[in-house]
Amino acid sequence: MPGKKVLVLGGGFGGVRAAITARSLLPAGHDVTLIDRQARTHIGASLPLLVVGEKEASKASRSLGQLANRGVSYIQEEIRSIDLQGKSVTTDAGVHGFDYLVLALGAEYDWDAVPNSLVAHSFYNLETARRLRRAVRGFRRGRVVIAVSSLPYKCPPAPFEAAMILRWAFKRAGVSSKIEMDLYTPEPAPIPVAGPEASACVAADLASRGIQLHPNAAVKEVARDGGSATFTDGSSIDADLMVTVPTHRVARVVAESGLTGGKPWVGVDPATLETQHPGVFAIGDVNVVMMANGRPLPKAGVFASREGEVAGRNVAAAAGDAEPARFQGQGYCFIAYSGREAGRVTGDFLAAGRPRVTFEQPSRKGFRAKEKFEIDWRRFRL
Ligand SMILES: Cc1cc2nc3c(=O)[nH]c(=O)nc-3n(C[C@H](O)[C@H](O)[C@H](O)COP(=O)(O)OP(=O)(O)OC[C@H]3O[C@@H](n4cnc5c(N)ncnc54)[C@H](O)[C@@H]3O)c2cc1C
Repeated sequence: MPGKKVLVLGGGFGGVRAAITARSLLPAGHDVTLIDRQARTHIGASLPLLVVGEKEASKASRSLGQLANRGVSYIQEEIRSIDLQGKSVTTDAGVHGFDYLVLALGAEYDWDAVPNSLVAHSFYNLETARRLRRAVRGFRRGRVVIAVSSLPYKCPPAPFEAAMILRWAFKRAGVSSKIEMDLYTPEPAPIPVAGPEASACVAADLASRGIQLHPNAAVKEVARDGGSATFTDGSSIDADLMVTVPTHRVARVVAESGLTGGKPWVGVDPATLETQHPGVFAIGDVNVVMMANGRPLPKAGVFASREGEVAGRNVAAAAGDAEPARFQGQGYCFIAYSGREAGRVTGDFLAAGRPRVTFEQPSRKGFRAKEKFEIDWRRFRL
């Protein structure tokens, strides 16, 4: 039987796991190739700590070239189009045919959705986190505003985590009493997916740190000088340091492939992660998997990774003789409160009825688990 060609698009949490899994299960005659525009990728979970100088970019990155050690061919190219009928992907360097495709291109940011949000700060990629780090270093007094622009956004705890970490860093610098902090979210409470108890805990922890929470308010527009913002509830606020969580969307190459069917994200079979095109799987932030309560599964690396494993197994089952797998929806997300302590939201997110989630209070043990999570990611163990 001639070898099959497995193409994985995107080398983040999901794509890497899918490629490593498929490679480990398929006989040598099959080819597993991963394409990403970046040779070195960075983990989002480290960015809030990078902002306050507790983490360096070198400790938050990994080289996709090292996938060769796992038998996966890595190609650094920009993906321009995906032809599902012709079973090929065109990049800035050529055309790659495939028998099986795993789409793991993540979510991209639409900075234009909130006018002037690029004048303000963010921490949702390395570039913005580095710029915010420079601004935080010299920040001694005034108001910090952290404002979420829309749902869904990656890692539901991240804005709350960033606020707690910033407060901790300001205390450490002896300037906390001179700094007001406000946090705006479109949701009715912090991290509602974690359930009412966890949400109430996080709300109380924000309040005890003097971080004013503004629920049901998404940032609509930032002023041209970045010094104020308006919100969907009609309110506005002045800020000395404005930080936004950008609007997320699928990349244009994904929308143009027809895989979204005109919807915001790629629909998949929630168990197999196959799209409506046989042999084409979509995993991680690029897809939408609905929970039993009618809400989408959060966009998080831990889910992308588990979905990658399931898609990799299912590709290997289709191309070889591996056992197929089903995505179960178990996962967790850390919420660091400082450079020393982290809590964790863990659960069965696809449980019947509604997600079954527990919240572990922040602790040093939790922080060590978060550090291990990031080390595992760097070593391709996630
Ligand atoms: C601040 C922050 C904190 C977070 N904290 C956590 C956390 O604690 N725990 C957790 O589980 N998750 C966390 N996340 C979320 C996590 O990073 C994402 O959910 C995860 O990266 C999604 O994985 P993915 O494989 O779907 O996509 P990605 O990891 O985004 O990978 C997509 C890849 O596709 C590539 N790509 C895209 N378009 C193209 C193209 N046209 N051509 C070539 N390559 C392309 C990109 O370069 C990228 O490498 C956090 C995210 C942020 C921003």
